[in-house]
Amino acid sequence: MAQDKNPPTLPIPEDKKERFEKIKAKFIEIYGEEPKFFSRAPGRVNLIGEHIDYCGYSVLPMAVELDIIMAVSPDTQGQISLVNTDPQYQSYNVDVNQIVITKDVPHWYKYVLCGIQGIKEHFQSDTLRGFKAVVDGTVPRSAGLSSSSALVCCSALSMLKANEWTMSKEQLAEVCAKCERFIGTEGGGMDQAISLTAVAGKAKLIEFNPLRTQDVLLPPNAAFVVGNSLAEMNKAATPQFNTRVVECRLAAQVLATSQEGVKWREIRRLGELQEKLVYTLDEMLNLVTSKLHPEPYTKQEVCEILEVTPEELVETSLSANTTHVDSFSLYNRATHVYSEAKRVVQFKAICDQQPGNALEQLGELMNQSHASCRDMYDCSHPDLDTLVEVSKANGAVGSRMTGAGWGGCTVSIVNAEKVSSLLAGVKAGYYQPNPDKFSKVDEALFATTPGGGAAFYIA
Ligand code: ADP
Ligand code: MG
Repeated sequence: MAQDKNPPTLPIPEDKKERFEKIKAKFIEIYGEEPKFFSRAPGRVNLIGEHIDYCGYSVLPMAVELDIIMAVSPDTQGQISLVNTDPQYQSYNVDVNQIVITKDVPHWYKYVLCGIQGIKEHFQSDTLRGFKAVVDGTVPRSAGLSSSSALVCCSALSMLKANEWTMSKEQLAEVCAKCERFIGTEGGGMDQAISLTAVAGKAKLIEFNPLRTQDVLLPPNAAFVVGNSLAEMNKAATPQFNTRVVECRLAAQVLATSQEGVKWREIRRLGELQEKLVYTLDEMLNLVTSKLHPEPYTKQEVCEILEVTPEELVETSLSANTTHVDSFSLYNRATHVYSEAKRVVQFKAICDQQPGNALEQLGELMNQSHASCRDMYDCSHPDLDTLVEVSKANGAVGSRMTGAGWGGCTVSIVNAEKVSSLLAGVKAGYYQPNPDKFSKVDEALFATTPGGGAAFYIA
């Protein structure tokens, strides 16, 4: 299991040399010295298991080639200096001992500070080095491929190596999952875990508490196409994401009040409730149907059931940017979570058994996942729904929104022989009718294979 050993240091791959050289040149131009090392952390595409990591359930993502790379040089004076190759992001400097991460505006550098702060708090050292860095990212932002976690993980790696400390990938993943919450999003741990532990050529089943990962071998005829709908939403700047986290918590707590011997105050996740009751996922789905009503709950109703005042509810169940939320769809959210958790188990079993029609079975699960995200979790977007339909009409065996939703990307499963026709069909059917979207199609639509995980590279 977890060994006290850093992610690997690798040679720069031939096809990436030009990009690394450019980042290095920028570093020399800015700081007047050569970087000492590079850190890299990839984004990811979640194949199935949406919005359930923070409920304690396993998910099944793979890393993508798109990534964040940082050229880094340690700073023994304890200064952090950050420059981004994208001019829309302003440079930022701070003393490593003076870091404050406020949850108001999610400026880009705060994600970097999250990674630094996470490592700092883990090691609790009196002597700290800072670092100078040039940051370069290719993961589309707020598009569901987890650019935020790639940035947090890459930053944590840089801080780790600048201070010559060591940590296993699994430990790093736990630290990065926790520290990304400093920015205000109450995420689970999937994004950081896959970015740090991915293995090229394989998807991963990621289980939580404690974090464990298992390689998943996809059927040999399966290929994946990612399409960015080009509708964007920052998860830390809007309350939708945290509202879903809170609805799941409240669903678990309200369900707990119906169960003898379960103290609702000790329950924070739908997964914890299942564990406590020792029920199957089907039994949990029946419990939701019998104990919750499909109409949304008002805050007052929730307070009456839990026997708390609205002020107490903030303490027991709500989060920073959800105190004003007044309506909670407990039935729909819990139904999505338990059924999606079941689909992950089924997806993994199909990959393990590889029946002749594996592709079709996996596609069907992905289609069901999309319908559940759209109808029960209310986290899709009309553009995502259109993109899913266009993909299915052009040869995708299954297609779904991926990542938090409300915009961002879809992932489609397709027979490897039909990738080109799917790409052409989606280009014509989804992007071409919209000139703005069409101008971005080359970056927005691509086939992807499972990429490798985070690593250091010698400068
Ligand atoms: P995602 O689904 O991509 O993780 P989030 O809304 O969680 O979306 O995070 C997106 C934010 O991450 C951006 O608004 C930006 O602040 C930050 N970010 C991502 N990539 C970069 C980058 N290359 N450079 C600077 N900031 C980045
Ligand atoms: Mg994110």
